[in-house]
Amino acid sequence: MREPGPDAGAARLTIDLDALAHNHAVLRTEAAGAEVAPVLKSDAYGLGADKVGRRLWAESARSFFVARLSEGEALRAALGPDRTATIYILDGFTDGAGPRLAAAGLTPVLCSLPQIAAATAFAAARGQPLPAAVNVDTGMSRQGLTLEEARAVTQAIDRLRGLDIGLVMSHLGSAAEPENPRNAGQLARFLEARALFPEARASLAASAGIFLTADYRFDLVRPGISLFGGGPREVPDPRLKAVATLAAPILDVRHLRPGDILGYGDSLKIPEPTRVAVVAAGYTDGVIRAARGAAYAWLAGARRRLMIVNMDMLVIEIGDTPAAPGDFVELLGPNALLDDLAAAGGTVAHEILVRLSRRAERTYLGGA
Ligand SMILES: *Cc1c(COP(=O)(O)O)cnc(C)c1O
Repeated sequence: MREPGPDAGAARLTIDLDALAHNHAVLRTEAAGAEVAPVLKSDAYGLGADKVGRRLWAESARSFFVARLSEGEALRAALGPDRTATIYILDGFTDGAGPRLAAAGLTPVLCSLPQIAAATAFAAARGQPLPAAVNVDTGMSRQGLTLEEARAVTQAIDRLRGLDIGLVMSHLGSAAEPENPRNAGQLARFLEARALFPEARASLAASAGIFLTADYRFDLVRPGISLFGGGPREVPDPRLKAVATLAAPILDVRHLRPGDILGYGDSLKIPEPTRVAVVAAGYTDGVIRAARGAAYAWLAGARRRLMIVNMDMLVIEIGDTPAAPGDFVELLGPNALLDDLAAAGGTVAHEILVRLSRRAERTYLGGA
């Protein structure tokens, strides 16, 4: 039996590491002196934490954040022994994590009293200080010590014993909306939290927070989505370049007549003669079904309405533009914009990226 070969008609996912480097440079300028520490959780938002991490190291990033312990181990392995980055684990000191954190030289972001207790016990047993960060909840109500808890641990002499707390951080819940008063409230509480750890560096801003005022930037910022081209206000930002491009070939060009019903169900009745292209990509490849009707694809220099999205096929309206089977259609990229697709699908750019296909043929442009 022969191994399955590549599909000539497959969707292609191109990841442009030079565009990533461009966005990193934009964020460094915006951060105005604060360290830019990329967030590479969920395999760098689906784009490949190994290659993305190595390229960002080459662009002089020296600290990274991931969510899971295993992601940190994988990133450490991908960076190798010579790239001595600080890798923070946002999940913190999870059950039994000590030996693995120590073996891979990972820094837990401690986010609860039990985690702090477990980390100090581990440091004591090991007889060596454990580098760590502390997450304080300033109003997102999701993760982190309360201010009262942070105050209590810093006032007791032994509750942080053996921990070398190099960073105090928090996360903003509404930074994409600069006018939202929640931001100022979180900032005020973060200033109190930071004062409890006078020796540590401070970090509050993710992508959106970097674009608030300078007050939000502190010593270190943690961008994820804007490195990959997502606008900090959840709308396209022309300063940032698309890193991921998803393109797929046309399978067929068809003429629909008035009265035809397109696809599953009978809701999409064709009112007038309509020329469409059937494209070899679907929600398997990350073009989310919910975006049908509202999203667009890019073909021959213009936006084309996305009519339906099925598992392996989607249909776009193409008017009278020349198009033939085998021609490639851009479904996401420099012209079919990430933030627009997310808005059309009622979600955030982050979710679009992490759902990009494992099936699409992947190509990386620019050196890792
Ligand atoms: C995901 C995450 C980030 C990055 O957020 P973006 O919106 O992608 O920039 C930063 N900090 C924390 C704690 C996160 O969970």
